[in-house]
Order: sequence, then structure tokens, then C-alpha cells
Amino acid sequence: MAIFYHSTRDVNKKKITASQAILQGLSPDGGLYVPDRIPAIDFPLTALANMSYQEVAFKVLRLFLTDFSENELQECINAAYGKNFDDPAIAPLVFHEGAFYLELFHGPTIAFKDIALQLLPHLMTTAAQKNHSHKKILILTATSGDTGKAAMAGFANVPNTKIIVFYPQAGVSPIQERQMLTQKGTNTYVFGINGNFDRAQTNVKNIFNDQAFKQQLANLNYQLSSANSINIGRLFPQVVYYFYAYGQLLAKRQLTNGQPVNFSVPTGNFGDILAGYYAKKMGLPIKHLICASNKNKVLTDFFQTGIYDKNRPFYVTSSPSMDILVSSNLERLLFYLTDSDPAMTADLMQQLQQHGAYRISPAMQAILAKDFSADYADESATSQEIAYVFETCQAAIDPHTAVASQVARRFAAASINDQPMIIVSTASPFKFPKVVLSAITDSKADQVPDLTALQQLQQIIGIPYPSTIKQLLENQPQKRHLLEPNQMQAAILKIIA
Ligand SMILES: *Cc1c(COP(=O)(O)O)cnc(C)c1O
Repeated sequence: MAIFYHSTRDVNKKKITASQAILQGLSPDGGLYVPDRIPAIDFPLTALANMSYQEVAFKVLRLFLTDFSENELQECINAAYGKNFDDPAIAPLVFHEGAFYLELFHGPTIAFKDIALQLLPHLMTTAAQKNHSHKKILILTATSGDTGKAAMAGFANVPNTKIIVFYPQAGVSPIQERQMLTQKGTNTYVFGINGNFDRAQTNVKNIFNDQAFKQQLANLNYQLSSANSINIGRLFPQVVYYFYAYGQLLAKRQLTNGQPVNFSVPTGNFGDILAGYYAKKMGLPIKHLICASNKNKVLTDFFQTGIYDKNRPFYVTSSPSMDILVSSNLERLLFYLTDSDPAMTADLMQQLQQHGAYRISPAMQAILAKDFSADYADESATSQEIAYVFETCQAAIDPHTAVASQVARRFAAASINDQPMIIVSTASPFKFPKVVLSAITDSKADQVPDLTALQQLQQIIGIPYPSTIKQLLENQPQKRHLLEPNQMQAAILKIIA
């Protein structure tokens, strides 16, 4: 049955197709597109045990992207998940001491955003053809570190597209910056912004809502689109690995059919964990989705008190992709919490805009508690977790994964339930060599230059460098371009004019 999409804030629930929603990214009213119903899976869970990642992707995505033909979808999936991943499983599940780690970092930028961003450009160009659009696609992305590089890698040299990435100058690691500055491609552009991630993201959002500016772009034959995790073309590819992980556990006979599992998810913009929520609503037996935050624990407080309040200090932590005070995708969860009420959702978002805070009712909080649990790990707990996992299992985990791992450990200790735990492992330890090295050698690697830390880490953990690290070491970075937030529009026009 066909599924249509409407904005979380539109009381008329005006419908568009999946391909139109992918092209538009954000709705013109500032809301996020949601499906008019959440489809149930139409295959038995046991079938997952024998499916490849690509097969699961096809089975799951066809339920959401109903205006794509099976052929189109298959071609997009084949183009996205192949030799560009360094593990044929795409998202392998490994066991370390008490929990399973779902490794989402085997793509070209060694972080989980590859999973969606290797697929999105293919979905988007297919969507443009389907809608007979002759405009070129302009992708604008605000990044807290990983999205930028992953989006550039996905869109590099894709015909009829250009991608411009804005990152907070002070909020990404030197390696993350170097990864972006060494990206090849005639259609990729990157700028550092004076300000933190929320500032960069708010500015990109404002550009999307600026109708006059959009018209200017249209006159230059460009259509604006977003590769941020607000795009349904980013969100739904992430639903896939929740099903795939379950299938892997069935195949390894670690589960009886239908047995519930928990997922601990290192959370920033709330895209990853929201995909898990969709998986659950589609019929995957998930007991708890554990929302794991770092020291920027606005989400932990929200789940525990019902109050979302971004008026608080912002910390730059060792897990920068989670240094976020406004989690965009939470709007979709609020929409479901209000029983799909766009007026109420818009009202909460209005309060957030005006006061930086809102409160949900105790009844809504009770509904949340059925699906979610939340906790956070501060910097020292994160570092200790990296050390602990290395000591006990000789496995190096990155700081984002460590946050989820630490929070999962506390969840298990609290005996909330004793179902199998899957920790979503979102980045390779090679992406954050100083932090990982400091933790496992119990020393201050802060003074060590990044590239030295990388080499030392490699020697200690004995895993060969992924190819993206080799490229990083071999390629010369382009010159850094810095902008004030109010110079972003001019920079865009200069590129496409
Ligand atoms: C983006 C990112 C996250 C957070 O995911 P969200 O979907 O933004 O919640 C966690 N870890 C890493 C390594 C990331 O890149």
C-alpha cells in the first residue's frame, strides 16, 4: 500500500510522495516529513537470519519508499553497499564481554553516517528523475564532524549535484577537519564557521526557510536539498541495521525467535535512535531503546524529567558528534507522542524557538518510558569505558561507542531487564586516536600530534589502517576557508553563480 509523507507541523497533513520528500529534505513550514502511517514488516522475523544486508535493506526500504519501483530501489542499494565498505557484512555484529557491538563504521569515512549517506545520493538522483526535475541539486549540510565528510564522500562527482558543507571551526577534531579538507571531487565545498554546531545548523535551517533565497537559487537552476539526518532518505536507511542486527543474532542462535533485545545508541541529533523506534513500531522486538548522551545531556534530562531545556552550557567533549543541544529529529518523536497532532507539535517547537525549552505532560512521559531509557556518561566515565573494554577484550572502541557502552553497562547493572544488549558502535577508534590512546595507555596523549597518536594507536591495537586513513595520510589538504555565519548565503551564491 502506498505511503505518503506530510510535515510534522502541518494541520492539513498535505501529502507528498517519498521521492518528493527526499528531494525537499525539510518541509517549507519548518517541520519534518513523516510517513502517514508506519508500515508493519511483511516478512517473518526468522527470514532475517538468512538475509544479506542488501536484502534486508530492500525488504525494509520498499515499505517506506513506495513510489520507487523495485528495480530502482535495488539499483540504489547495489550502488550504495558494495566494495566501498571494507566488510562484506556491511554492519558486522561482534561480541565483547557481555554485549554485542553493531559495527557501523566499515564504510568510506569509518563512521556510521556512511550507512545512510552512501545511499542518499542515489535515492536523490533517482527521485529527481522520477519527478522530472531538470534542476541541479544543491546539498547544504551543517556538520558536527562526521556528517560533512560522509556526505561529501557520498555525493562526490555524482552528476548534477553540488555539496557545500559547513562545520563549527572549534567543534571538530583535527582529523575530522583533515578528512574534509582532503576530500576529492569537483562538486564538493567545505567551510569552517565561527560558532558551535547549533549555530551552524540553525543557519542552514534558516537558509532552507528563506523563500527569497530559494527563488534566487531556482533562477540559477538549482534546487536546495538536505543531507542532514532530517531527510527521510537519511532516516530510513538507518532502520535497516536494527533488523539486520536482529537477524545476525538469530543466525548465531543467540536469540529465540521473537525474543526482545535492547539497543544502546550514542545519541546526538536523535536520527539513529529514532530509526530504532521506527524499527520497533514496524514489529522488531525491541524492549528498550537506550538513549546514551555525553556531558551535553539535554536528552537524558528530557527523558527523566519531561523538560527539554537547551538553556545550559555547551561542552566540547571527546565525542563531538554528540555535542548537540537541539536534537532535530526529536521533533518526529514528539509528533508521535502527541498522537500525531501537528498543532501540538508545532506549539512545542514554537516554545523551543522562543524560550529554548518546553515541557511534556506526565502522560506523554509515561508513554516515552515504555520504549526509551536514558542516561549519560561524562568524560572520565567515557575514557574509563574505553580502557575497560580494551583491558577485558583487547578491543578498542571509539569515544561515541564508549558512551553507549558505559550507559549499557549501567543499565545492565540496574537489572531493568536481562534481554541481550546491542551497542550501536558508530565510529572506528582510528577516527579519534588521541582520545583512545590516552584512555588505553592511561596517559595524556593530548600533547602528542594527531598523526603520531594514530601511529601509536595502530601499533598497540594491531589492526591495519582503513583505506580512508591511508588517503588522509597521503593526500595534501586544501586550504581552510573560514566564514562568519552571516556570510554563508554569499558564499553559496558565489559557488553556483
Ligand atoms: C552522528 C553520530 C552520532 C549521533 O547520531 P545521531 O543520529 O545524530 O543521534 C553518534 N556517533 C557518531 C560517531 C556520529 O557520527
